[in-house]
Order: sequence, then structure tokens, then C-alpha cells
Amino acid sequence: MVSPTLPLYPPASLGVIGGGQLGRMFLQAAQRMGYRTGVLAATEESPAAQVAHWTAVGPPGHLPALRAFAGQAEGVTVEFENVSAPALRWLARGKVVRPGWRTVWVSQNRLREKTFLRENGLPHAPWRPVRSAGELAGLVEGLGLPLILKTASSGYDGKGQARVEHADEVEPAWATLGRTPCVAEGWVKFAAEVSVVVARGEDGQAVAYPVGQNRHRRHILDATVMPAAVGPAVAQEAQELALAVAQALGTVGVLTVEFFLTEGGGLLINELAPRPHNSGHLTIEAAVSSQFEQQVRALCGLPLGSPNLVSPAAMVNLLGDLWAGGPPDWRAALAADPGVKLHLYGKRTPAVGRKMGHLTVLDPDPETALARVTDARRRLTGGR
Ligand code: AMP
Repeated sequence: MVSPTLPLYPPASLGVIGGGQLGRMFLQAAQRMGYRTGVLAATEESPAAQVAHWTAVGPPGHLPALRAFAGQAEGVTVEFENVSAPALRWLARGKVVRPGWRTVWVSQNRLREKTFLRENGLPHAPWRPVRSAGELAGLVEGLGLPLILKTASSGYDGKGQARVEHADEVEPAWATLGRTPCVAEGWVKFAAEVSVVVARGEDGQAVAYPVGQNRHRRHILDATVMPAAVGPAVAQEAQELALAVAQALGTVGVLTVEFFLTEGGGLLINELAPRPHNSGHLTIEAAVSSQFEQQVRALCGLPLGSPNLVSPAAMVNLLGDLWAGGPPDWRAALAADPGVKLHLYGKRTPAVGRKMGHLTVLDPDPETALARVTDARRRLTGGR
């Protein structure tokens, strides 16, 4: 493979590994800027494949599929973290690959992620590794109760987690997780969950979006409001910490840092995602440059765009649950408030907990934005 030279200007061909909604919105941002776009996706029907100029079909670790993908992409990015680091290293021999394998490798495994945070003096909840039955001993003494066990890899939206209330539940909880390597975390009494999306260029230039305040339901993001109502000192600290994470990882691309804001006003890093994030979807309408546009710019070696908000905003997710009684009433939601922006990801089969789309509302008052967007979602199922 011949290494491409930067910057990658339109109409260069950009490819994303992963066919979900994050890949779809990356491709849409790239297309607006005049790039050719493609995806490595499980099927031609994947959300990203539906809008791509070209698609390589196959699992991300499958060499023939990767070769077909590499044959058409000049710049490569990812939409999820569970991409094999060796595959990314192989791709990087002939392609621009951002984020690089190290950022993805650290953030795809909670043991590596926590170790990285500890080694870099970045604040996080107390934790212990659980790789063997022997490491279960002393967890309760070290972390207190309740504590939470999380599988080191392949967990998302609360999957692969078990809460432990009593000391005698530690071993059964680990058993329910298949006795795979885990991290055990002390329970954090948080006042709020917030996140910061940052973009970092190859030259180290980096920008942070305003802090988003997140509400989860059943461990799945339900709503985000930006800017978060956390006060200027906490907001600045969160942004500085997120930028410090990106710098310490040497990330080129977009990175999201999720935090717990403790009752005492401290910030603890919960999770890293080496990519745009659900809590940043509202930047499509609310920011000068969206998180997906920044992903394109960072990948291609272009100057980053402004992360400033044109307006405060709120976003709610549309889960498959909303389809339980038949198709949602789109007309009712859109007619009641012409400021509501509808995003659907092209998924044909709604399922409980499946992210089908989202709604965004801009409003000078963030709380009013949240009330309006929540009201619009309620109207989707109003008659039922
Ligand atoms: P995670 O997959 O690690 O982001 O966890 C999913 C959700 O579980 C978080 O957004 C929190 O609401 C909750 N959670 C996870 N870890 C903890 C913790 N150590 N203390 C309290 N709540 C937690």
C-alpha cells in the first residue's frame, strides 16, 4: 500500500469501520463536505451502508472484508471501539487511520482504561482488577458496598455489569458475568452525569464542546442537555480534563469523556469513547461544527471547526420501545412544535432498548429545550 499524503481534500474517499448510526452521521457530514464515503458494515442494510457511496460487507476483524474496505478508502476512522488494534495497525501502513490503534486499544478494555487514568493522574472512581477468583477477596474491604462489577471488554449501555449489595454476592455476580476479566468499581453517589466531546488534530490543536448533562434510563442514555447546569468552574474543569485525556492518549480525532459529578462537586472520569458520542448528537444543529464534522476534519488533517454553540439544546433518544404499540405518530410530534428536529437511523426492526433515532430542540433556555423535546417524544405515543 502507498501512504496517502495529508491533507485529504474532497473528493478523497473516507471509510468508517462499523455500520451503525454513528458511522451514518459521520458519512453524512463527510458527504456535505464533498468527500466520497464508504463503510465496512455487517450488511448492506446497516444504517451507514444505506447512505454510503460504497460498502464492504463483513465483520470488522475479517481479513477479506478489511482488504476490500482498504482497497477503496484513503482515510479510515471507526464508529465503535471494539475494532481490533492489529487490524488498525495493518490499515495504517497504507492509509490515514484516525484515531490511531493506541487510543482504540486503551478505550476498548476497562482494565487498560482504568490503568491509563491512574497512571496519568486523571480522577476516576476507586477500582480493583478482577482477573481471577483470588482477586475477589478483599474487594468489599477495599471498595465498600455497594460495588459494581463490569466486564473488561464488550460492555456497553449497562450490558456486562452486575451490582453487588452484599459481600456474599461478589462471587455469584462474577459468575453471572462468565468469570471473565472485570473491573470492580466502588459505587459513586453522583449528583449528575456529564460528558465532554473533544476533537484533536494531528498538530495537537484541540477543542472541547460545552459540557453535556446526561440522563440515563435502564443504563441507556435517555436525554442530553447542553450546556450542563454545572457552573463555570466545574464546566472548565471537565473540559480541561477531557482535553488532558486526549493529549495523554495522543488521540487524533474525536474523543468523548463521560464523568460522574459527585455530590461533593468533584469530577470522576467514568468512561472514554474514542469517537463521537450519543451525548454529542445535538451538536449537529446546536454547534457551529458538529462532532461528526470534527471527525472528518481531524481525519483529513483539516483545521478543526468551532465547537461553540449557536444555541443551547436538548436531545432525547428514540428507542425501539416507542414502536411497541405500532409506528410512532410523527405528525403529532412535529406539528406541535416546528422547532423539533427528527433524526432516524434507517433501522427496519425496532426492538426494546434499540436506538432508532433521536430528537433535538434548540432553545435559549436549556431546561425549556429539554421540556420541549421531551414533550415532542411524548406526543409520538400520545394516543396510547
Ligand atoms: P458505564 O457502562 O460504565 O457507563 O455504566 C452505565 C451506567 O451505570 C452509568 O451511566 C451510571 O449511571 C451507572 N454506573 C456505572 N458505574 C457506576 C458507579 N461506579 N457508581 C454509580 N453508578 C454507576
